[in-house]
Amino acid sequence: MTSDTRTQAEPAPAANDPPGIVKQLFLGRILDESLFPYPRIRERDREMLGAITEAVDDFLASKSADLKRYDRQAEQPEEFIQGLRDMGLFSLIIPEAHGGLELSNGAYARVLAQTSSHDSSVSLTIGAHSSIGMKGLLLFGSDEQKQRYLPRLASGELIAAFCLTESGAGSDAGSIRTRAVRNEDGSWTLDGEKIWITNGGIAVFYTVFARTDTPEGKITAFLVEAAWPGVSHGPHEDKMGIRASSTTTVAFDGVRVPQENVLGPVGKGFKVAMAILNSGRTGLGGGAVGGIRSLLRLALAQASERRQFGKPIAEFGLVREKLARMAVDGFAAESTVWMVAHLIDSGASDYSVEAAISKVFASEAVQRASHEALQIAGGNGFMRDFPYEQITRDTRILSIFEGTNEILRLYIALSGLKSAGAILGELQSALGDIFNHPIKGFGVLGDYTGRRVRAATGYGTDRIEYPLAPPLRKLATVYEKYAVELARVSDALLRRHGKAIADQQHAQKRVADIAIDLFVGLCTLSRADYLLSQNDPVAATAVEAATLFTRDARRRMARNVRAVERNEDALLESVASTLLKKQAYPWDVI
Ligand SMILES: Cc1cc2nc3c(=O)[nH]c(=O)nc-3n(C[C@H](O)[C@H](O)[C@H](O)COP(=O)(O)OP(=O)(O)OC[C@H]3O[C@@H](n4cnc5c(N)ncnc54)[C@H](O)[C@@H]3O)c2cc1C
Repeated sequence: MTSDTRTQAEPAPAANDPPGIVKQLFLGRILDESLFPYPRIRERDREMLGAITEAVDDFLASKSADLKRYDRQAEQPEEFIQGLRDMGLFSLIIPEAHGGLELSNGAYARVLAQTSSHDSSVSLTIGAHSSIGMKGLLLFGSDEQKQRYLPRLASGELIAAFCLTESGAGSDAGSIRTRAVRNEDGSWTLDGEKIWITNGGIAVFYTVFARTDTPEGKITAFLVEAAWPGVSHGPHEDKMGIRASSTTTVAFDGVRVPQENVLGPVGKGFKVAMAILNSGRTGLGGGAVGGIRSLLRLALAQASERRQFGKPIAEFGLVREKLARMAVDGFAAESTVWMVAHLIDSGASDYSVEAAISKVFASEAVQRASHEALQIAGGNGFMRDFPYEQITRDTRILSIFEGTNEILRLYIALSGLKSAGAILGELQSALGDIFNHPIKGFGVLGDYTGRRVRAATGYGTDRIEYPLAPPLRKLATVYEKYAVELARVSDALLRRHGKAIADQQHAQKRVADIAIDLFVGLCTLSRADYLLSQNDPVAATAVEAATLFTRDARRRMARNVRAVERNEDALLESVASTLLKKQAYPWDVI
């Protein structure tokens, strides 16, 4: 993406990063060493998770009627939030030295899975605080700032919120208008209004992004306290879902922000914002996985208890298929979210594309699951006495916020293509005119030239060397094949469109979907292999789930690869143009 079309998905670039797993897939390489064996949970996390999830279950199960009421009244009362504080749920990722539990990203995502299996708004209140509200302080704060704020953030005395979006700046976050002007004494004066801020009405600590237009850069991040003169928030928004989670406008009217509350370097606020969003995505993914687990539990009970035509509906093939597909989606989403969390925990610097994939896949998986679980419940699913309609409303937001899934797909594609383009550029200068020769001409991975290039550079290396268990070895060939296909179609698209690929959204979506299937499939394969290696009693079902995912993924990938050359893009564009011109549905039977 160019600097003019920056979006909420743009990464915080880290200089000289080695390309991450998915960027390597765009080059036809499968990074075995990063994907296999599947990461194990740390012992410390396992012990803490046992205690935390039990406490969460005890507390939230006892409040299930209240949680339903909070959804209707669109508010979590203060005594309930105090209960969350008492359980330490605002301290999950804060270092022990500052009074927190210092959970890894993986363990944090697992806690959010547990809270989400009871209520999404609870996850939002905790998650917006940790994943985005005060994450910037953890990632970019000075020691002094951390000492000043982290202990009170850990206790929940300060609840945090992340203030980026404005009425004119959603996906196009670089176009914010909230302004901060530097005063002579080094302090800043902040003016503007943010919208749809999660925790807006209960937070007392805001991470705020404002246009500063300094020589160092356009946007700067600030730590702002709600109690300061000029800070206010609007009423709770009346939302479709996650209704009990506080969402409000937050306004800044001539707010004086002391110099010591600038977060990160002046002018680098956009990078700060993107780094926060990238590192926060596994929290949302964990929440989605928790949603799938609870939907499956509900659907299994419903299918087993409900009798029609003289037997439980669980005996009908169409119902069983839904249950199985929900479980496969859950296994794939869970395997991906925890792989990405582990990548972050292990200090990988280039994980933003993998994090975007985990968010896109998990959010869509839980939405599919809510649709299917509601369908299994039939008419009951539609009734507000049953939980399905609330879960369906609550999970709808997941593909909209923290980067819409459309923007994230574009980001996945363009990041991979950019990486492939850079390598192609290097090869081009190394191999002279081979790229432009009409007969030798390229097909980097398909012909003799391709094999030579591959031998010389490793570009297009395609075999998973890790010794997978025999039942999974055959599945691996699908990913080996389509990693090479991804490299091939990326090569073809870059060759055809050059820099104009940035405008080819239909092509980008296809490429992103291939990358999503590859990465999610490889995570699923790795997890199934690990379970087999442990002789886990659920390993056989995991192999079946990995097999089902891989077969579906192979069909989708084959379709997407074919559609790079033969598609209906022009027809779709034409219909859309007619509709937009007429501003109406154009047909009628009368
Ligand atoms: C309940 C809720 C809580 C939120 N919490 C927070 C918060 O705590 N902090 C915060 O800062 N923000 C928050 N947001 C804002 C959220 O991040 C934005 O809604 C989101 O980024 C999308 O922006 P938008 O709504 O303006 O949609 P738009 O950017 O207007 O997008 C509308 C549609 O157009 C598509 N689109 C836009 N640009 C492109 C493009 N270039 N190519 C293709 N398609 C495109 C989008 O994918 C989407 O489908 C929240 C929003 C909601 C609804």
